[in-house]
Order: sequence, then C-alpha cells, then structure tokens
Amino acid sequence: MRSETAKDADTQGATAAQRWLEQDRRYVWHHMQPYAASRDPMIVVHGEGATITDIHGNRYIDAMSGLWCVNLGYSERELAEAAYRQLAEMPYYPLTQSHLPAIRLAEKLNAWLGGEYKIFFSNSGSEANETAFKLARQYHAQRGEPGRWKVISRYRAYHGNSGAALAATGQAQRKYKYEPLAPGFVHVPPPYCYRCPFGQAYGSCHLECASVYEQVMEWEGPETIAAVIMEPVITGGGVIVPPPEYMRQVREICDRYGVLLIVDEVICGFGRSGERFGHHNFGVEPDIVTMAKGITSGYLPLSATAVRASLFEAFKDDAPYAHFRHVNTFGGNPAACALAVRTLEIMEERRLVERARELGRALSAALVPLAAHPNVGDVRSFGFLAGIELVADKETRSPAPAAFVNQVLAGCKRRGVIIGKNGDTVPNHNNVLTISPPFVVSREELDQIVQAVTEAVHEAAEGAG
Ligand code: PLP
Repeated sequence: MRSETAKDADTQGATAAQRWLEQDRRYVWHHMQPYAASRDPMIVVHGEGATITDIHGNRYIDAMSGLWCVNLGYSERELAEAAYRQLAEMPYYPLTQSHLPAIRLAEKLNAWLGGEYKIFFSNSGSEANETAFKLARQYHAQRGEPGRWKVISRYRAYHGNSGAALAATGQAQRKYKYEPLAPGFVHVPPPYCYRCPFGQAYGSCHLECASVYEQVMEWEGPETIAAVIMEPVITGGGVIVPPPEYMRQVREICDRYGVLLIVDEVICGFGRSGERFGHHNFGVEPDIVTMAKGITSGYLPLSATAVRASLFEAFKDDAPYAHFRHVNTFGGNPAACALAVRTLEIMEERRLVERARELGRALSAALVPLAAHPNVGDVRSFGFLAGIELVADKETRSPAPAAFVNQVLAGCKRRGVIIGKNGDTVPNHNNVLTISPPFVVSREELDQIVQAVTEAVHEAAEGAG
C-alpha cells in the first residue's frame, strides 16, 4: 500500500513535485551537502523492502540502507505498529524513573551482547559516544585516578557530530571551522593494510597498527589515558577491515594499562557484521559498547551506551557527585524502545543475522571480478558491508579523483541503485564506494546492485579514458 504522501505526490504530478522542490530549497537545510547538491535533493516519498521511490515515481534499490541503518527495509509494518501501540498506551516518561519498554530492551540487549551490561539510553550515536566518554572519565575518577581523561581513537574513523564525538573523529576535514573542539583526544593510524601507515605488508608485519597504542600510551603518560574508542571495522571512513588479531591485541594493551575499551557498534551492531555485534567476530569483551542506527532499523531515534556491570560497581555510592549526573529528555523514549524490542525479535524470528552473513558472503564473492578492473585498487568486505577503493593507477595506488567517484555514483543511480562513498573528504581520499544494503534485499536485487556498480565503474573508466 502506498502512503498518502506518495499518492498525493503522484496524483499531483510534475507541477506538485516542482512546488515541493521549491519549498525544500527555501526551508530545508540538508545534512553534509554542498550548496549546489543541496538544491537538487532526491525527495523520497515511499519505501518498500529494500527500495525507495522518489517524488517523480523513480524507484531505486537503496544499497546504503539510508545511512547504514534501515536493516529491516522500508516497509516493516510490525515496527510501525509496535511504536503505535506504545504511543497509545504510554507515550513518554523520562528514564530518571523507568518504563516497561526500556526494561524489556535493556534485558534483550544483554542477551544480544552476551554479557552483563547496564544500559544508558540516548537518541543518537553521537550522544551514545558522548555518554561513554563521560562515564569512562568518571569511572576512573571514582577509582582514585582523576588524571585519566584522554581518549585514543583512530584517523579516518567517525564517531559523531557533537563536541567530544567529533573530537574523537579522525577525519580532520569535518572539523575545519568548528575548532577548537574538546581537548584530550589523541589519534593513532588505522589498521589500513591497503595503504599501511607503517609501510608494512600484512603477513610480514608485526601488527604495528596495534602496538602503536602502547607507544602512544607511553608517550602521553599511561596515567592520563581513560579509554580507547574503536569501531570493529572502520565503516564510514572507507570500510577499513583490521587483521583478525588486531582487536584482541588492542584489548590486551588496554588491560595492561588500565584503559577502558569502548567499542562503537553504531554501524557494525545488530547483524551488519555477520554476527550480532561486530566485536563478536574478534573474541573481545569491551568495557563499553555504543549502539544506534540498526537498533530501531532507523525507524525512530534511539541509541544506547552499554556499560559492563562490573564497571557500574564504581557508581554504587551515595557520596556527593558519585552518581552519573547525565540526563537525556528523549533518551529511551518508550515508543522507540518498544520498536527496538520488536526489531530485535523480528531479527531473531527471521534469522536475519544469519541472512546478513550469507548475503555478505554472496556480495563479497560477486564483487571479486570487479577487483581486476584497472581503476579498482582494493575490494574489502566484512559481514554485509563492502568497500570498493577506486584508484587512478593500480600500480601507484593514487586515489581516483572525486569526479570519477561521483560519475560512478551517478552511473549507479541511473541504473536504479543508490550506493555511497566514504564520508571522510580528505582531498583526494574520498575514493571508497560503500555498499550496506538492507538485510531484506532479495538475491535478484543484490545481483542488480553488483551489476550496476560494475557497469558504472566500466562506464566511468571509458569516459575518463
Ligand atoms: N559512530 C559511528 C560509527 C557512526 O557511523 C555514526 C554516524 O554515522 C555515529 C557514531 C554518530 O551517529 P549519529 O549520526 O546517530 O549521531
């Protein structure tokens, strides 16, 4: 069934579409878009399964799940109904007290995490990370180490748009004109084998990308380090997949130095990695896990900061300032929590984590031939995520120019497929195509995605040649 908005847009035709566009240009400020691009947005009016339809009636396979989040696809009525039922029953109460959907979800998240965690709810990934940083600092302070306040994160990683989350982000160009940001965030190079920052090759290296944490902790003063934050796989920064032993080694260094490990599962969580959480692939137990996006399949805003129960011991004290003095008006909204519970139930009932893993294998296999193309330097995949690094020259690995990358994106769109590119716009390094489809995508649609990308790369290369 089409939505009312879709029907209105259809029945009113091209003139109505033009009017909406004019209103949009006048009133809506688009996220991240340069001015020219912001003048011509795709106005999406309908979603079904893995597809979206724009105001002109054009239908696309959304191979990016919106912003890496609509894992259950665009037409899961049960999610809408779960939210509706909760809104009708009890639409709001703050988590200074409690409500049933939050309790149910916290219990479910514990089952999904496979450990015992205390859950703090917010609305967005950025807030979940902000919460984690404050918690980590207060934890150390309450255990007699108030000097531990610095956080180590990686170049190319994205952790959010707000003061500290952006400071933790290792993408300098996102910070221009907004600095100075929160102090105390130190970056290390990413585990980026294709362009190893240490000039090594995996197999003959000593995992310098992991041991560098120890070096940096020594240089900064171990008594000043509160936490390390990392995604299991750097996603938006270019689908940078670490060596299998990397995360365990970093965990071990954190343990030796008394540093907390915060794992940002905002994208990797809830099946995207082929496991329930990304860190489950690496046999590592984090101290804090942050999550958002897929928790509600993008249908409503919700995020969570899960803190290992043993850490909560440091907060069981009624001395002044000993509790976590942090409140979030909308964090853990009952309808969002009810919708999240239903999201996780549906994933269990329909075995969608397993499906994501299988589809990821199929996607990875289908992309193999593309790796031979002269403008494809590297194809990386992990779970149901893929990154295709485009180069101008395969030998020198010089990145493909932005115009080439944009041509490929446009070529995909002309073929009815929306894909993405890495979010870090370091000049000349915005060259990784990203694919992260809904878990409900059909095998035929997956074939169409691969075919569109393959044809678009060939087309752009022929045009450039
Ligand atoms: N962490 C990661 C890994 C992300 O990809 C994002 C957003 O893309 C965030 C945090 C921030 O999430 P939000 O946009 O919900 O604040």
